[in-house]
Amino acid sequence: MSATVGGEFELCVVGLGPTGRALAHRAMRAGLRVVAVDPRPDRLWPETFSCWIDELPEWLPASAIAQRIEAPTVWTKTAHRIPRPYCVLSKPGLHAALALDDATVITGRATRVDTHEVELRDGTILRAATVFDCRGVPALGRRRAASAHGIFVAAETAAPMIAEGEGLLLDWRPENGAGPDEPPSFLYAVPLGDGTVIFEETSLGLRGGMPQHELRRRTLHRLATHGIRIEGTEPTEAAHYPIDQPPPKKGVAQAVPFGSRGGMMHPCTGYSVADSLTLADTAIAAVRAGRDPIEALWPWRARLVYWMRMRGLWGLGRLTTDQSTAMFEAFFTESERGQRALLSAHDDYTALGAVLFNTVAHTWPFRWRYDLVGWTNRDRWVDFPFAAAPERSERRAG
Ligand SMILES: Cc1cc2nc3c(=O)[nH]c(=O)nc-3n(C[C@H](O)[C@H](O)[C@H](O)COP(=O)(O)OP(=O)(O)OC[C@H]3O[C@@H](n4cnc5c(N)ncnc54)[C@H](O)[C@@H]3O)c2cc1C
Repeated sequence: MSATVGGEFELCVVGLGPTGRALAHRAMRAGLRVVAVDPRPDRLWPETFSCWIDELPEWLPASAIAQRIEAPTVWTKTAHRIPRPYCVLSKPGLHAALALDDATVITGRATRVDTHEVELRDGTILRAATVFDCRGVPALGRRRAASAHGIFVAAETAAPMIAEGEGLLLDWRPENGAGPDEPPSFLYAVPLGDGTVIFEETSLGLRGGMPQHELRRRTLHRLATHGIRIEGTEPTEAAHYPIDQPPPKKGVAQAVPFGSRGGMMHPCTGYSVADSLTLADTAIAAVRAGRDPIEALWPWRARLVYWMRMRGLWGLGRLTTDQSTAMFEAFFTESERGQRALLSAHDDYTALGAVLFNTVAHTWPFRWRYDLVGWTNRDRWVDFPFAAAPERSERRAG
């Protein structure tokens, strides 16, 4: 088939992950004529998305939240309660909140995404005044990764570690069975609001990531340390994606990359959803005003923030477990604004500069600061020889 759709569309959104869908939804609500394309436009996203509640835009209804955690815990050398509400998003709730009832939604896969034109695999051409490319991040390869293995466990089983309404954002306790000469990982464990808790061992910043079987082994080790035994048949989720996707350059005639494809994937957390939801209106306002959305989304302050976060990512990717624990201990005793500047704010460059400097300055012992800034052990974990995956029968027993 070969057909042309459009001529009259103001906006074309390629990719209906959470960020593309939010952009298309907000553009439609703003009165723009929108066409959107995805191979599976009605699919509920497979990943479990979370964020700080104050990062979400005001227009998002409460029904998009599945579980609220008032004061999540971060374990470094000690437990820190973070007085900042966090949440797990509801997949159906978020999907419904981003309705596309007045947009033209096409089932298809784009093979060419240009400034004003998109070609689909079946030859269909979509034309629009502005095209946004929301196809997600490219394949990982040897890039710096977020890797995670999550196991969904019934809340009663999880209770010895995660009480109702509680959550562990970062658990750096040395309970995952990894030795000091192995790349570090931490546990993320939150209730999902559906009677289950996800236990997810996570590695950030390693080139090429950490293998799933290694992350699973570590998760099970932690659970066993707390007396939690699971069947081995529980559902799981896997993450393995690059977190160093840069913001687009301005002044280049191109479709506008948005969401995780457009630099909104946070280099130190691997999150992009909340930031992208919030920035959707910035992009749409620029389109309506005839301004370049890339300039509106990426003023120099935001680019500087991205640049500094990338230094953070490189630091994360070369630390040992003890060093990571010491560094996060320093970070989570910094000011609330500083913590937000790293974790959330799109362009608070002064606070971010200060918190990065102070985190390095307060990491102890002194000599570890050289690793943090990359003067020593810069490539510590590059090409680390992880043990091979166990045979299937051993895996079941795990
Ligand atoms: C297990 C796991 C847990 C995660 N947890 C979090 C979290 O808690 N918080 C958070 O913010 N992030 C989390 N992430 C990261 C999260 O996945 C991304 O932040 C988010 O999905 C990015 O959204 P996106 O819309 O930019 O891209 P994607 O979600 O990757 O969506 C891209 C869309 O583009 C479509 N597409 C691709 N190619 C084409 C094409 N050629 N033509 C048309 N359409 C195309 C795809 O079908 C897809 O629908 C997690 C990731 C994983 C894997």
